[in-house]
Amino acid sequence: MAEIVLKDIVKRFGDLTAVNNLSLNIKDKEFLVLLGPSGCGKTTTLRCISGLETPDEGKILIDGEDVTIKRASRRDIAFVFQLYALYPQLTAYGNIAFPLLTQRTDKKKIKEEVNKVAEILKIKHILNKKPKELSGGDMQRVALGRAIVRRPKAFLLDEPIGTLDAKFREEMRTELKKLHVDIGATTVYVTHDQVEAMSMGDSIAIMNLGVLQQVGTPYEIYTNPKNLFVANFIGSPGMNFINCKPERDSSGRLVLRLLSIGTHIQISDEIQKIILDKKEEEKELALGVRPEDMILSMKKEENYIETKVFVVERTGSYNIVNIKLGSDIVRVRTLPTVALKVRETVYIGIDMKRISIFNKKDGNSIM
Ligand code: ATP
Repeated sequence: MAEIVLKDIVKRFGDLTAVNNLSLNIKDKEFLVLLGPSGCGKTTTLRCISGLETPDEGKILIDGEDVTIKRASRRDIAFVFQLYALYPQLTAYGNIAFPLLTQRTDKKKIKEEVNKVAEILKIKHILNKKPKELSGGDMQRVALGRAIVRRPKAFLLDEPIGTLDAKFREEMRTELKKLHVDIGATTVYVTHDQVEAMSMGDSIAIMNLGVLQQVGTPYEIYTNPKNLFVANFIGSPGMNFINCKPERDSSGRLVLRLLSIGTHIQISDEIQKIILDKKEEEKELALGVRPEDMILSMKKEENYIETKVFVVERTGSYNIVNIKLGSDIVRVRTLPTVALKVRETVYIGIDMKRISIFNKKDGNSIM
Protein backbone atom coordinates (compact mmCIF):
# COMPACT_ATOMS: atom_id res chain seq x y z
CA MET A 1 0.00 0.00 0.00
CA ALA A 2 1.43 3.40 -0.93
CA GLU A 3 -0.47 6.60 -1.16
CA ILE A 4 1.83 9.46 -2.12
CA VAL A 5 0.87 13.03 -1.27
CA LEU A 6 2.81 16.11 -2.36
CA LYS A 7 1.87 19.31 -0.55
CA ASP A 8 2.97 22.67 -1.99
CA ILE A 9 6.38 21.39 -3.15
CA VAL A 10 8.89 24.05 -4.22
CA LYS A 11 12.35 23.10 -5.51
CA ARG A 12 14.83 25.76 -6.57
CA PHE A 13 18.25 25.54 -8.21
CA GLY A 14 19.79 28.97 -7.61
CA ASP A 15 17.46 31.52 -9.24
CA LEU A 16 15.53 28.86 -11.14
CA THR A 17 12.33 27.48 -9.62
CA ALA A 18 12.22 23.98 -11.15
CA VAL A 19 9.03 22.95 -9.27
CA ASN A 20 6.65 25.67 -8.18
CA ASN A 21 4.06 24.96 -5.48
CA LEU A 22 3.15 21.48 -6.67
CA SER A 23 0.40 19.57 -4.87
CA LEU A 24 -0.62 16.06 -5.96
CA ASN A 25 -2.52 13.16 -4.40
CA ILE A 26 -1.45 9.83 -5.87
CA LYS A 27 -3.76 7.05 -4.75
CA ASP A 28 -2.62 3.59 -3.70
CA LYS A 29 -2.11 1.36 -6.81
CA GLU A 30 -2.62 4.32 -9.15
CA PHE A 31 -0.54 4.71 -12.34
CA LEU A 32 0.07 8.46 -12.54
CA VAL A 33 1.91 9.95 -15.50
CA LEU A 34 3.82 13.21 -15.05
CA LEU A 35 3.71 14.78 -18.50
CA GLY A 36 5.18 17.97 -19.91
CA PRO A 37 7.82 19.44 -22.22
CA SER A 38 11.53 19.15 -21.57
CA GLY A 39 12.64 21.15 -18.53
CA CYS A 40 9.17 21.52 -16.97
CA GLY A 41 10.24 19.89 -13.69
CA LYS A 42 9.09 16.27 -14.07
CA THR A 43 12.38 14.61 -13.13
CA THR A 44 12.94 17.02 -10.26
CA THR A 45 9.50 16.12 -8.89
CA LEU A 46 10.29 12.41 -9.18
CA ARG A 47 13.65 12.91 -7.48
CA CYS A 48 11.92 14.71 -4.60
CA ILE A 49 9.49 11.78 -4.19
CA SER A 50 12.39 9.30 -4.24
CA GLY A 51 14.49 11.25 -1.75
CA LEU A 52 17.32 12.03 -4.17
CA GLU A 53 16.40 15.74 -3.84
CA THR A 54 15.01 17.56 -0.83
CA PRO A 55 12.35 20.17 -1.59
CA ASP A 56 12.98 23.74 -0.39
CA GLU A 57 9.35 24.05 0.68
CA GLY A 58 6.40 21.73 1.14
CA LYS A 59 5.88 18.18 2.35
CA ILE A 60 5.92 14.68 0.93
CA LEU A 61 3.80 12.04 2.67
CA ILE A 62 3.91 8.33 1.91
CA ASP A 63 1.00 6.47 3.51
CA GLY A 64 0.49 9.45 5.81
CA GLU A 65 4.12 9.46 7.02
CA ASP A 66 6.09 12.66 6.44
CA VAL A 67 9.17 11.51 4.46
CA THR A 68 10.24 14.97 3.22
CA ILE A 69 13.71 14.67 4.74
CA LYS A 70 13.91 10.89 5.00
CA ARG A 71 16.80 9.26 3.12
CA ALA A 72 16.06 7.68 -0.27
CA SER A 73 17.15 4.23 0.92
CA ARG A 74 14.57 4.32 3.71
CA ARG A 75 11.54 5.12 1.55
CA ASP A 76 10.98 1.62 0.09
CA ILE A 77 10.60 3.03 -3.39
CA ALA A 78 12.21 1.76 -6.63
CA PHE A 79 13.50 4.26 -9.18
CA VAL A 80 14.12 3.25 -12.82
CA PHE A 81 15.89 5.73 -15.10
CA GLN A 82 15.97 5.96 -18.85
CA LEU A 83 19.65 5.09 -18.67
CA TYR A 84 19.60 1.57 -17.34
CA ALA A 85 22.66 1.46 -15.11
CA LEU A 86 23.30 -2.28 -15.01
CA TYR A 87 26.44 -3.79 -13.51
CA PRO A 88 28.43 -4.82 -16.63
CA GLN A 89 30.34 -7.59 -14.88
CA LEU A 90 27.17 -9.30 -13.62
CA THR A 91 24.77 -11.46 -15.64
CA ALA A 92 21.11 -10.48 -15.98
CA TYR A 93 20.47 -12.89 -13.09
CA GLY A 94 23.14 -11.21 -10.97
CA ASN A 95 21.78 -7.75 -11.73
CA ILE A 96 18.22 -8.69 -10.76
CA ALA A 97 19.38 -10.58 -7.67
CA PHE A 98 21.59 -7.70 -6.50
CA PRO A 99 19.08 -5.80 -4.28
CA LEU A 100 18.17 -9.06 -2.52
CA LEU A 101 21.85 -9.92 -1.97
CA THR A 102 22.39 -6.57 -0.28
CA GLN A 103 19.42 -7.37 1.96
CA ARG A 104 21.14 -10.68 2.84
CA THR A 105 18.19 -12.75 1.57
CA ASP A 106 18.99 -16.50 1.50
CA LYS A 107 20.09 -18.01 -1.83
CA LYS A 108 17.09 -20.30 -2.30
CA LYS A 109 14.67 -17.40 -1.80
CA ILE A 110 16.71 -15.20 -4.20
CA LYS A 111 16.54 -17.87 -6.91
CA GLU A 112 12.78 -18.20 -6.40
CA GLU A 113 12.18 -14.44 -6.57
CA VAL A 114 14.46 -13.81 -9.58
CA ASN A 115 12.75 -16.62 -11.48
CA LYS A 116 9.33 -15.22 -10.62
CA VAL A 117 10.33 -11.78 -11.89
CA ALA A 118 11.98 -13.25 -15.01
CA GLU A 119 8.74 -15.12 -15.71
CA ILE A 120 6.67 -11.91 -15.49
CA LEU A 121 9.13 -10.01 -17.73
CA LYS A 122 9.62 -12.98 -20.11
CA ILE A 123 13.40 -12.85 -19.77
CA LYS A 124 14.17 -16.34 -18.40
CA HIS A 125 16.15 -17.15 -21.56
CA ILE A 126 18.61 -14.28 -21.06
CA LEU A 127 19.34 -14.66 -17.34
CA ASN A 128 22.86 -16.00 -18.03
CA LYS A 129 23.82 -13.16 -20.36
CA LYS A 130 25.82 -10.07 -19.49
CA PRO A 131 24.53 -6.54 -20.35
CA LYS A 132 26.84 -6.17 -23.37
CA GLU A 133 25.15 -9.21 -24.96
CA LEU A 134 21.64 -7.76 -24.49
CA SER A 135 19.49 -5.51 -26.69
CA GLY A 136 18.28 -2.14 -25.34
CA GLY A 137 14.84 -3.58 -24.66
CA ASP A 138 16.22 -6.57 -22.75
CA MET A 139 18.52 -4.30 -20.69
CA GLN A 140 15.48 -2.20 -19.82
CA ARG A 141 13.60 -5.34 -18.76
CA VAL A 142 16.51 -6.40 -16.56
CA ALA A 143 16.55 -2.91 -14.99
CA LEU A 144 12.82 -3.26 -14.33
CA GLY A 145 13.39 -6.74 -12.92
CA ARG A 146 15.91 -5.32 -10.48
CA ALA A 147 13.34 -2.74 -9.38
CA ILE A 148 10.47 -5.22 -9.05
CA VAL A 149 12.35 -8.01 -7.27
CA ARG A 150 12.32 -6.35 -3.88
CA ARG A 151 8.60 -5.61 -4.07
CA PRO A 152 8.80 -1.92 -3.20
CA LYS A 153 5.79 0.12 -2.13
CA ALA A 154 6.00 2.27 -5.24
CA PHE A 155 7.78 2.58 -8.57
CA LEU A 156 9.14 5.81 -9.98
CA LEU A 157 9.93 5.47 -13.68
CA ASP A 158 11.73 8.28 -15.51
CA GLU A 159 11.25 7.96 -19.29
CA PRO A 160 12.08 4.26 -18.96
CA ILE A 161 11.48 3.48 -22.64
CA GLY A 162 12.51 6.81 -24.15
CA THR A 163 15.59 5.45 -25.92
CA LEU A 164 13.89 2.47 -27.58
CA ASP A 165 12.79 2.54 -31.21
CA ALA A 166 9.15 3.42 -31.96
CA LYS A 167 7.89 -0.14 -32.60
CA PHE A 168 9.52 -1.51 -29.50
CA ARG A 169 8.26 1.40 -27.39
CA GLU A 170 4.73 0.45 -28.38
CA GLU A 171 5.31 -3.13 -27.17
CA MET A 172 6.94 -1.97 -23.93
CA ARG A 173 4.02 0.41 -23.23
CA THR A 174 1.64 -2.54 -23.22
CA GLU A 175 4.04 -4.66 -21.17
CA LEU A 176 4.61 -1.99 -18.54
CA LYS A 177 0.91 -1.37 -18.20
CA LYS A 178 0.25 -5.10 -17.84
CA LEU A 179 3.05 -5.32 -15.29
CA HIS A 180 1.38 -2.58 -13.28
CA VAL A 181 -1.93 -4.45 -13.35
CA ASP A 182 -0.17 -7.68 -12.25
CA ILE A 183 1.91 -6.11 -9.48
CA GLY A 184 -0.55 -3.43 -8.44
CA ALA A 185 2.05 -1.05 -6.95
CA THR A 186 1.62 2.72 -7.04
CA THR A 187 3.56 4.01 -10.05
CA VAL A 188 4.68 7.51 -11.03
CA TYR A 189 5.83 7.57 -14.64
CA VAL A 190 7.60 10.52 -16.27
CA THR A 191 7.36 11.17 -19.99
CA HIS A 192 7.20 14.04 -22.47
CA ASP A 193 5.30 11.83 -24.92
CA GLN A 194 1.59 12.52 -24.77
CA VAL A 195 0.69 9.27 -26.57
CA GLU A 196 2.55 7.31 -23.89
CA ALA A 197 0.76 9.31 -21.18
CA MET A 198 -2.70 8.86 -22.73
CA SER A 199 -2.28 5.14 -23.30
CA MET A 200 -0.71 4.23 -19.96
CA GLY A 201 -1.94 6.56 -17.24
CA ASP A 202 -4.89 6.02 -14.90
CA SER A 203 -4.38 9.73 -14.49
CA ILE A 204 -2.12 12.37 -15.99
CA ALA A 205 -0.58 15.40 -14.30
CA ILE A 206 0.56 17.95 -16.89
CA MET A 207 3.29 20.42 -15.95
CA ASN A 208 4.72 23.47 -17.66
CA LEU A 209 7.57 25.68 -16.37
CA GLY A 210 7.46 23.96 -12.98
CA VAL A 211 3.74 24.59 -12.52
CA LEU A 212 1.03 21.91 -12.49
CA GLN A 213 -1.51 22.71 -15.23
CA GLN A 214 -4.12 19.97 -14.82
CA VAL A 215 -4.61 16.54 -13.27
CA GLY A 216 -7.24 14.14 -14.53
CA THR A 217 -7.96 10.92 -16.35
CA PRO A 218 -6.75 10.83 -19.96
CA TYR A 219 -10.38 11.24 -21.09
CA GLU A 220 -10.99 14.29 -18.87
CA ILE A 221 -7.81 15.95 -20.03
CA TYR A 222 -8.50 15.23 -23.69
CA THR A 223 -12.14 16.32 -23.67
CA ASN A 224 -12.01 19.10 -21.12
CA PRO A 225 -8.58 20.78 -21.12
CA LYS A 226 -8.32 23.49 -18.48
CA ASN A 227 -6.23 25.86 -20.56
CA LEU A 228 -4.68 26.45 -23.98
CA PHE A 229 -1.38 24.85 -22.95
CA VAL A 230 -3.03 21.52 -22.06
CA ALA A 231 -5.33 21.64 -25.11
CA ASN A 232 -2.33 22.21 -27.34
CA PHE A 233 -0.07 19.61 -25.72
CA ILE A 234 -2.55 16.71 -25.83
CA GLY A 235 -3.73 15.18 -29.09
CA SER A 236 -2.07 14.42 -32.39
CA PRO A 237 -2.80 16.26 -34.58
CA GLY A 238 -3.54 18.90 -31.99
CA MET A 239 -6.73 20.81 -31.29
CA ASN A 240 -7.70 23.56 -33.75
CA PHE A 241 -8.00 27.06 -32.28
CA ILE A 242 -10.26 29.50 -34.11
CA ASN A 243 -10.21 33.12 -32.94
CA CYS A 244 -13.71 34.36 -32.25
CA LYS A 245 -15.83 36.87 -30.36
CA PRO A 246 -19.29 36.35 -28.84
CA GLU A 247 -21.72 38.97 -30.12
CA ARG A 248 -25.42 39.42 -30.90
CA ASP A 249 -26.79 38.56 -34.34
CA SER A 250 -29.63 40.55 -36.01
CA SER A 251 -32.23 38.66 -33.92
CA GLY A 252 -30.40 39.46 -30.66
CA ARG A 253 -29.19 35.90 -30.14
CA LEU A 254 -25.66 35.37 -28.83
CA VAL A 255 -23.44 33.81 -31.56
CA LEU A 256 -19.71 33.42 -32.15
CA ARG A 257 -18.15 35.60 -34.86
CA LEU A 258 -15.14 33.82 -36.38
CA LEU A 259 -12.69 36.69 -36.65
CA SER A 260 -10.63 35.52 -39.62
CA ILE A 261 -13.67 35.16 -41.94
CA GLY A 262 -16.35 37.29 -40.25
CA THR A 263 -18.88 34.43 -40.29
CA HIS A 264 -21.29 33.84 -37.38
CA ILE A 265 -21.84 30.38 -35.96
CA GLN A 266 -24.73 29.41 -33.68
CA ILE A 267 -24.04 28.18 -30.15
CA SER A 268 -26.26 26.24 -27.75
CA ASP A 269 -28.28 27.92 -24.99
CA GLU A 270 -25.95 26.27 -22.49
CA ILE A 271 -22.85 27.85 -24.02
CA GLN A 272 -24.59 31.22 -24.34
CA LYS A 273 -25.33 31.03 -20.62
CA ILE A 274 -21.69 30.18 -19.77
CA ILE A 275 -20.47 33.14 -21.84
CA LEU A 276 -22.93 35.50 -20.16
CA ASP A 277 -22.34 34.14 -16.63
CA LYS A 278 -18.56 34.41 -17.05
CA LYS A 279 -18.90 37.91 -18.58
CA GLU A 280 -17.04 36.84 -21.72
CA GLU A 281 -19.33 38.68 -24.16
CA GLU A 282 -17.34 40.90 -26.56
CA LYS A 283 -14.06 39.35 -25.34
CA GLU A 284 -11.58 37.70 -27.67
CA LEU A 285 -11.90 33.93 -27.30
CA ALA A 286 -10.39 30.86 -28.92
CA LEU A 287 -12.83 28.20 -30.06
CA GLY A 288 -11.08 24.84 -29.60
CA VAL A 289 -12.17 21.95 -31.82
CA ARG A 290 -10.45 18.61 -32.20
CA PRO A 291 -9.91 17.46 -35.83
CA GLU A 292 -12.30 14.51 -35.30
CA ASP A 293 -15.04 16.85 -34.06
CA MET A 294 -15.20 18.74 -37.36
CA ILE A 295 -17.50 17.44 -40.05
CA LEU A 296 -16.65 17.80 -43.71
CA SER A 297 -19.51 17.89 -46.19
CA MET A 298 -19.72 18.39 -49.94
CA LYS A 299 -23.00 20.30 -49.65
CA LYS A 300 -24.04 23.40 -47.73
CA GLU A 301 -25.85 22.71 -44.44
CA GLU A 302 -27.11 24.95 -41.66
CA ASN A 303 -24.31 26.41 -39.48
CA TYR A 304 -21.66 25.00 -41.90
CA ILE A 305 -18.85 27.19 -43.26
CA GLU A 306 -17.90 27.25 -46.94
CA THR A 307 -14.17 26.85 -47.50
CA LYS A 308 -11.57 25.25 -49.75
CA VAL A 309 -9.25 22.27 -49.34
CA PHE A 310 -5.65 23.36 -48.79
CA VAL A 311 -3.69 20.12 -48.29
CA VAL A 312 -4.68 16.47 -47.72
CA GLU A 313 -2.45 14.30 -45.50
CA ARG A 314 -3.06 10.55 -45.72
CA THR A 315 -2.06 8.25 -42.84
CA GLY A 316 -3.71 5.05 -44.09
CA SER A 317 -6.26 4.72 -41.29
CA TYR A 318 -7.57 8.30 -41.65
CA ASN A 319 -6.97 11.49 -43.62
CA ILE A 320 -6.21 14.92 -42.22
CA VAL A 321 -7.68 17.56 -44.49
CA ASN A 322 -6.19 21.03 -44.01
CA ILE A 323 -8.63 23.77 -44.88
CA LYS A 324 -8.31 27.54 -44.82
CA LEU A 325 -10.51 29.78 -42.68
CA GLY A 326 -9.26 33.19 -43.75
CA SER A 327 -5.63 33.23 -42.71
CA ASP A 328 -6.05 30.28 -40.28
CA ILE A 329 -5.42 26.67 -41.23
CA VAL A 330 -7.80 24.18 -39.63
CA ARG A 331 -7.33 20.42 -39.65
CA VAL A 332 -10.25 18.05 -40.13
CA ARG A 333 -10.07 14.29 -39.68
CA THR A 334 -11.92 12.22 -42.26
CA LEU A 335 -12.25 8.58 -43.26
CA PRO A 336 -9.36 7.39 -45.47
CA THR A 337 -11.84 6.81 -48.28
CA VAL A 338 -12.76 10.51 -48.56
CA ALA A 339 -11.09 11.64 -51.80
CA LEU A 340 -10.65 15.40 -52.15
CA LYS A 341 -8.71 17.63 -54.48
CA VAL A 342 -6.67 20.64 -53.44
CA ARG A 343 -8.73 23.87 -53.84
CA GLU A 344 -12.00 21.88 -53.98
CA THR A 345 -14.93 23.66 -52.24
CA VAL A 346 -16.15 21.91 -49.07
CA TYR A 347 -18.40 22.82 -46.12
CA ILE A 348 -17.24 22.48 -42.55
CA GLY A 349 -19.46 21.82 -39.56
CA ILE A 350 -18.43 21.71 -35.91
CA ASP A 351 -19.79 19.24 -33.34
CA MET A 352 -20.77 21.97 -30.87
CA LYS A 353 -21.30 19.43 -28.05
CA ARG A 354 -17.57 18.73 -28.04
CA ILE A 355 -16.03 22.18 -28.30
CA SER A 356 -13.78 23.98 -25.82
CA ILE A 357 -13.68 27.76 -25.43
CA PHE A 358 -10.71 29.63 -24.00
CA ASN A 359 -10.20 33.22 -22.93
CA LYS A 360 -7.38 34.43 -25.19
CA LYS A 361 -5.93 36.75 -22.58
CA ASP A 362 -5.29 34.31 -19.71
CA GLY A 363 -5.54 31.10 -21.77
CA ASN A 364 -8.03 29.49 -19.36
CA SER A 365 -11.04 27.48 -20.44
CA ILE A 366 -14.36 29.19 -19.75
CA MET A 367 -16.28 25.88 -19.91
P1 ATP B 1 13.50 16.51 -19.25
O1 ATP B 1 12.30 15.85 -19.85
O2 ATP B 1 14.33 17.24 -20.26
O3 ATP B 1 14.28 15.63 -18.34
P2 ATP B 1 12.16 17.63 -16.94
O4 ATP B 1 10.76 18.08 -17.14
O5 ATP B 1 12.35 16.32 -16.29
O6 ATP B 1 12.92 17.70 -18.31
P3 ATP B 1 13.88 18.67 -14.88
O7 ATP B 1 14.99 17.74 -15.23
O8 ATP B 1 13.12 18.41 -13.65
O9 ATP B 1 12.86 18.79 -16.11
O10 ATP B 1 14.46 20.15 -14.85
C1 ATP B 1 13.68 21.28 -14.52
C2 ATP B 1 14.59 22.49 -14.60
O11 ATP B 1 15.52 22.45 -13.53
C3 ATP B 1 15.39 22.58 -15.87
O12 ATP B 1 15.48 23.93 -16.26
C4 ATP B 1 16.74 22.03 -15.47
O13 ATP B 1 17.78 22.60 -16.25
C5 ATP B 1 16.84 22.47 -14.03
N1 ATP B 1 17.66 21.57 -13.19
C6 ATP B 1 17.38 20.27 -12.94
N2 ATP B 1 18.32 19.74 -12.11
C7 ATP B 1 19.20 20.73 -11.85
C8 ATP B 1 20.38 20.82 -11.05
N3 ATP B 1 20.83 19.78 -10.35
N4 ATP B 1 21.02 22.00 -11.02
C9 ATP B 1 20.55 23.09 -11.70
N5 ATP B 1 19.45 23.07 -12.47
C10 ATP B 1 18.77 21.91 -12.54
